[in-house]
Amino acid sequence: MDIKFYLPTRVVAGPGCIVANAQLFARYGKRALVMTGARSAKGNGSLADVQRALDSQGIAYALFDKVESNPGIANCREAASHARLFKADFIVGIGGGSPLDAAKAAAVLARNELSDAEVFRNDYPGGALPVVAVPTTAGTGSEVTQYAILTNDAIESKSSISWEGIFPALAFLDSVYTASLPHRVAVNTALDALSHAIEGYLAVKADSWSRAVAYEALRVFGKALPRLADGYYGEDLRSELLLAANMAGAVIAQTATTIVHAMGYSLTYFKDIDHGRANGLLLAPYLDFVATASPDGVREVLAALGCRDLEAFADFLGSLLGERESISPDEIRKFTAIALKTKHVSNTARIPGEADIKELYARGLVSR
Ligand code: NAP
Ligand code: FE
Repeated sequence: MDIKFYLPTRVVAGPGCIVANAQLFARYGKRALVMTGARSAKGNGSLADVQRALDSQGIAYALFDKVESNPGIANCREAASHARLFKADFIVGIGGGSPLDAAKAAAVLARNELSDAEVFRNDYPGGALPVVAVPTTAGTGSEVTQYAILTNDAIESKSSISWEGIFPALAFLDSVYTASLPHRVAVNTALDALSHAIEGYLAVKADSWSRAVAYEALRVFGKALPRLADGYYGEDLRSELLLAANMAGAVIAQTATTIVHAMGYSLTYFKDIDHGRANGLLLAPYLDFVATASPDGVREVLAALGCRDLEAFADFLGSLLGERESISPDEIRKFTAIALKTKHVSNTARIPGEADIKELYARGLVSR
């Protein structure tokens, strides 16, 4: 038995959990920088709940509401300089994966002088400010991971900070906040979480602990995603999705992701396809590809999802994806060269070569 499960985040879930557990914030200090995207946190009640909780504890706060989607290093540096100026003791990130990842990166940058190249060195002598995470999408699971994934123009892709010091100290899950998600964002973020559970289940680094958690997340997605595809988005479904996305995040914190994520980054960077959708487009060909190396694993994934076979799985995804984007031979060449250089390749159950990655792109998108 070889198990290395590590998950240092305190997770508190349920309706009204932020205000009801406001005293938990006080553990991290007296001054907080609150980080959000431009709009959604103001409309869905999450920012108001955090402000109420901080007020109740006498914690002073400043708001940085300029986190971009797929944030880059400059955006995180700007937040970090606000944290320093305000002398923040901790950071509260509210939003989808973008504000949560930006909060983690800013937590590092506030404590360390780093050149752009040093941002991804995963060793930060200055430590990091504690982070409290409030997800408002049911997708990335970033509230329980040690990753901050940033747009990195130097390599024309995304790069990860992967460091135990940025596991959020505390995460609040309240599905009231996801009620305002547009259907497209709800679907795309759910596809990200599904991708985490599937990739995590089949990753080279998977173990029996991570597979057990991934299996449970897959079981929930198997029932929940067809309902989401049909347009249902009630509170019961939202809380199931939020918890399953959280479990899938806990999985990739152990297993990391695989070739699907590495390939998806180029679809986001060059073609502006949402992160979760980018993964979703590639999932069916990927599952088919790894089936020869991990037939039992793929069978178990399909069983957990309630899919009879790979064809049923492709149909299941098809109803969530709709019309697919196209991809040119030049794009396939360029994106394949980028994906081949990533560490995700060696974490994939069947190690893909250049021809394999090209074929996965061609099968996932519409070739032109
Ligand atoms: P996102 O980029 O955080 O947000 C997408 C959009 O949804 C934004 O326009 C945002 O608006 C809006 N939004 C968020 N919550 C909303 C709500 N409750 N109601 C209405 N609109 C809402 O999307 P995401 O898919 O959650 O995160 C993607 C990022 O996470 C990518 O950078 C990806 O690489 C990263 N990621 C990280 C991990 C990890 O482990 N750290 C794992 C997978 C992916 P506002 O801007 O106004 O808030
Ligand atoms: Fe992801």
